[in-house]
Amino acid sequence: MKTIKVSVVTPDGPVYESDVEMVSTKAKSGELGILPGHIPLVAPLEIGAVRLKLAGGKQEQIAVSGGFLEVRPEQVTVLAQAAEKASDIDIERAQRAKERAEQRLQQAQQEHVDFKRAESALRRAVNRINVAGNR
Ligand code: ATP
Repeated sequence: MKTIKVSVVTPDGPVYESDVEMVSTKAKSGELGILPGHIPLVAPLEIGAVRLKLAGGKQEQIAVSGGFLEVRPEQVTVLAQAAEKASDIDIERAQRAKERAEQRLQQAQQEHVDFKRAESALRRAVNRINVAGNR
């Protein structure tokens, strides 16, 4: 089967690069599945998993904290604010971040808490826990 090059890049540097048979992820407009030969595209991404189907049936997941996906004829690039391979995720750190965010959201009614910020932190943490759970 044909493959396409995928790279995941963050402001801290490259996180992942490989040739894959398919890239799937959740864009703001809905689920995206990219196969080799896909038309050029730029799409903003949700906090979620980038799922990669490698040759031989192997699958890999990368946790992505939003950003953009760009499809060019020979390459898919994910530009993310933060991204971690499943194997690089510190689950305990994500659990602590989840608990902190949940506490802030509980306080949000009484005190001046930035609700959106806490909600995003919670979504990042839950996403990392889910992706790490699939490794
Ligand atoms: P925390 O509160 O634990 O820092 P966060 O969601 O605020 O979590 P980010 O600002 O999204 O963290 O990321 C900061 C940097 O730390 C990024 O380089 C990101 O890849 C990394 N990072 C964050 N959480 C984890 C984790 N659980 N495991 C591995 N790397 C992580």
